[in-house]
Amino acid sequence: MDKIIDGKAIAENIRGEIAVAVEGLKSRGVTPGLAVVLVGEDPASQVYVSMKKKACAAAGIFSDEHKLPAETTEAQLLALIDELNRDERIDGILVQLPLPKQINESKVLEAISPKKDVDGFHPYNVGRLVTGNPLFRPCTPYGVMKMIEHTGLDLTGKEVVVVGRSNIVGKPVALMCLSQHATVTICHSRTKDLAAQVAKADVLIAAVGQPEMIKGRWIKPGAVVIDVGVNRVGEKKLVGDVEFDAALERAGAITPVPGGVGPMTIAMLLYNTLESARRRAG
Ligand code: NDP
Repeated sequence: MDKIIDGKAIAENIRGEIAVAVEGLKSRGVTPGLAVVLVGEDPASQVYVSMKKKACAAAGIFSDEHKLPAETTEAQLLALIDELNRDERIDGILVQLPLPKQINESKVLEAISPKKDVDGFHPYNVGRLVTGNPLFRPCTPYGVMKMIEHTGLDLTGKEVVVVGRSNIVGKPVALMCLSQHATVTICHSRTKDLAAQVAKADVLIAAVGQPEMIKGRWIKPGAVVIDVGVNRVGEKKLVGDVEFDAALERAGAITPVPGGVGPMTIAMLLYNTLESARRRAG
C-alpha cells in the first residue's frame, strides 16, 4: 500500500458510488435533496458552500441553496429551518458555521430536525453516537474513519490518540474509534506531556488547528497518522497539524494536507444525505 493516504482518490470513489445509488433511488421516484444555508459573507464559508453545491450536482443530488444577509435575525433563520424541516424534497439541512454573532448557534442547530441533521451536530444525534447507535455521524470524523478503514487496519485493541477535543472533530472521532474497540486517549491544550502521549499511538488523529505542532520525531514507527488540521501559512500554502516530511519518515501511513481529510468531509455529507433519502424511500 502507498504510504500516503490519498483522500482525494478515496473521496472520488465514494462519490462515484453515491452517484450510482442516487440514480437507483431516482428510478424509484425519490431524489435526495440537501438544503444549504449560508448567513453572511464570510469568504471561506462561501467557498465551502459552493463546493458543496457542485458536489451535489455531480452526484445527482438536488441542492437547495439559501443565502441570507449578515443582518438576518435569529427568528428569520429559525423560520427558514422550520420551513425546510417540513419540506418533503429536503433530506438534509446544513447550516454553514460560523453564524453572525446575533444568532445563537446551539439554538439553530437544535431547531434542525434530527432526521435531517446530516452534519450530526444535533444533541439527539450526539446522544445516539455516545450510546453506540448513531443515526447521522458528523462528516469530518466519519471521513477519518473511512480513511482508517482504507488502510486495512483493525482498530480492536489499538492505541488511538486524538489531539483536540472539539465537538465537531475530536470528541466524535474518539467515540467512533471507541465503538471499534480501540483504547482511546484524548489530548487537549492542558495535556501535560503531549509528545509522550503521541509516542504511544498506533493511530494518531490530529485536530488542533496549529501548523505542524506535532513533531515527526514523536510518531511511533509504523503508526497511522490522520491529520485533520488545515492551517494557512503565508499567502497560499496550507499545512496540517503534523510536521509532514518528518512524520512521513516514521509513519506506516499518513494523510497529506491538502488532499487528505478535506475531500472526505464533503463525500460523507453526500453519503449522509443519501442515507436520509433512503430512509424516506423506505
Ligand atoms: P477547535 O479550535 O475547536 O479545537 C482545537 C482543539 O485543539 C481544542 O480541543 C484545543 O484544546 C486543542 N489544542 C489547542 N492547542 C493545543 C495544544 N498546544 N496541544 C494540544 N491540544 C491543543 O478546532 P476544530 O476541532 O474545529 O478543528 C481542528 C482543525 O481541523 C483546524 O485546523 C480546522 O481547520 C480543521 N478542520 C478540518 C476539517 C476538514 O474538513 N478537513 C473540518 C473541521 C476542522 P482545548 O479544548 O483545551 O482548547
